[in-house]
Amino acid sequence: MTWQNWAGTASADPARRYWPRTAEAIADAIREAVSAGLPVRALGSGHSFTPAAATSGAALDLSRWAGVISADAESGLVTVRSGTTLRSLNAALDLLGLALPNLGDIDEQTIAGAISTGTHGTGARLGGLATQVVALDLVLADGMVVSCSAEQRPDLFAAARVSLGALGVISTVTLRCVPAFALAADERPMPLQEVTARFGEFAAGNDHFEFFWFPYGKRALVKRNNRLAAEAKQVPPPLPEWRRFWEYEVMENGAFGALCRTGRALPGLIKPLNRLAAATLSKRSYSAPSHRVFVTPRRVRFVESEYEVPRDAVLDVLAELRGSVPRLADPVMFPVEVRVSAADDIWLSTAYGRESAYVAIHQYAGLPYEQYFRLFESINAAVGGRPHWGKMHTLDAEHLGVLYPRFPDFLRLRDELDPDRIFVNPYLERVLGP
Ligand SMILES: Cc1cc2nc3c(=O)[nH]c(=O)nc-3n(C[C@H](O)[C@H](O)[C@H](O)COP(=O)(O)OP(=O)(O)OC[C@H]3O[C@@H](n4cnc5c(N)ncnc54)[C@H](O)[C@@H]3O)c2cc1C
Repeated sequence: MTWQNWAGTASADPARRYWPRTAEAIADAIREAVSAGLPVRALGSGHSFTPAAATSGAALDLSRWAGVISADAESGLVTVRSGTTLRSLNAALDLLGLALPNLGDIDEQTIAGAISTGTHGTGARLGGLATQVVALDLVLADGMVVSCSAEQRPDLFAAARVSLGALGVISTVTLRCVPAFALAADERPMPLQEVTARFGEFAAGNDHFEFFWFPYGKRALVKRNNRLAAEAKQVPPPLPEWRRFWEYEVMENGAFGALCRTGRALPGLIKPLNRLAAATLSKRSYSAPSHRVFVTPRRVRFVESEYEVPRDAVLDVLAELRGSVPRLADPVMFPVEVRVSAADDIWLSTAYGRESAYVAIHQYAGLPYEQYFRLFESINAAVGGRPHWGKMHTLDAEHLGVLYPRFPDFLRLRDELDPDRIFVNPYLERVLGP
């Protein structure tokens, strides 16, 4: 059976598939694949736009290796099986009165897939999902299990949290969660000029700040989500279910999907449709449990590239994009998303060692994107931008080695743990070297 990712940008025909239900079964599958001379890839939910999980060798589908193993509400430490999706993790944490401190836009990824590519949300004082990990277990090429944390094998811990599955198969992940919290969400259109002028103020002054900008428009949709103290008196009301359905399902997916289909059939209309989409942006303020605010349904298929850039370079990147996108031969249907994150110390994390901003560009599935994405990459190259490991880019190990100070250390550890290159595929060969 052919494997395909969510975006339809990668597919593969694994020679063998395994559905392990225990950690021992993961080790057995790896040993069996090795003796058959097959490379091994762990499959998450297939939500990477890059072919990071694609394999013609042995595919380990971890969807049956899911669920919480242990949880301590007092310390917030929760250990989960690696195939657990963020959606089921959030549901389990709700029951425990806990929550992840930050999340990205969707919850369909597995915890291991999400951390392995450096998945992140937004928040100048918060890191990506991998920074919420305090320990993990990894099944190595010989089937042995190794545990790591800040105290136990700290080098492996610094490497394995964002490792693209290149060091082994993660079997369990221990996360530091926080007491469940609600967010006050404020979403409103604003002139792009104002957003860029107040970028520093918005990033510093909100727990979670991001904005979306339709490339031909002068307005952006600014999202500012802030934690509500348990004793807060002035709490915005929750969004009624009908309005949630109307805005997220009908407007952001149904109606937007229809606009995209029209644009794909009649590309000459894309610029006016894009302006129309920007003009329908409206204000909403509400409160909800954190993951109900972070996560939104994404049913309209698209392709995406995202680069991390040093935070003080982000406005230059946007100015370049704004100047050059209108000159592209093929018009762009989807908005640009801008987020922020704190620096971290994970060797291959895009936010390694610097305060970061993220710029993500998208194009509706089926519309030409190559020239747009090339232009985007050249703009980011000028500021030393680092591509998201799970989103489309063309960089190889030679380029990436310059961008990550600990790249040689990561490769040394890879040589030590996987000298025979069991955990490899063409994407990993490109980004990490053979
Ligand atoms: C609609 C959409 C929205 C998105 N939103 C965001 C966002 O807000 N922020 C963001 O940063 N990213 C976002 N992404 C990207 C996404 O979070 C990442 O690509 C993530 O890796 C997908 O997780 P997955 O479970 O689907 O992993 P997969 O794509 O299946 O796999 C990713 C990598 O992890 C490896 N892997 C999986 N499981 C294991 C394991 N147990 N052990 C070792 N390696 C493993 C795979 O081999 C592969 O190399 C989005 C993607 C989509 C399609």
